[in-house]
Amino acid sequence: MTLPSRTEASPIDTEAARQAVADLLKALGKDPFSVHLADTPRRVADAYAELLTPRTFTLTTFPNDEGYDELVLARGIPVQSLCEHHMLPFHGVAHVGYLPGERILGLSKLARVVEMFARDLQVQERLTKQVADWLQEHLRPKGVGVVIEAEHMCMALRGVRVAGSSTVTSALQGVLREDPASRQEFFTLVHA
Ligand code: ZN
Repeated sequence: MTLPSRTEASPIDTEAARQAVADLLKALGKDPFSVHLADTPRRVADAYAELLTPRTFTLTTFPNDEGYDELVLARGIPVQSLCEHHMLPFHGVAHVGYLPGERILGLSKLARVVEMFARDLQVQERLTKQVADWLQEHLRPKGVGVVIEAEHMCMALRGVRVAGSSTVTSALQGVLREDPASRQEFFTLVHA
């Protein structure tokens, strides 16, 4: 199954984005035509376009022939996303686990699922839930758990300026949500 992108979002109009960045620079009292800034609108527009475009990938699953029924956990998956309130990055790690049902997943794919939703304007809570819900729906495991720990530049650089503090969010589905022992095992492995 090849997954193009998570939503049918409007295509990115790079030229309009460049113009808008030039206008923003002007509005901020900077001269977008100065030697130093001449290429900045293009670079900013390209950077945002890249950060908002998930790479396509093929969801490779395999039959769970061995009947593996313990937790599969990928820890420390890098997460980079943009907060939708400030369009500033937040970054950190995701821990994604699932309790296999009839299919198991190529391990690298858990990182791709995280990226698919991270390359968007996001809030961390929604990102966490989208990854869990998507896996539950497409892989149909017995349960899914997702924990994201991230530092938000909008908190570190401005406002309260708490550099180095991280925000932790979690989303659980299926057995991991309903069964206290499974949930406990998941969180223990995440923090091991
Ligand atoms: Zn923010």
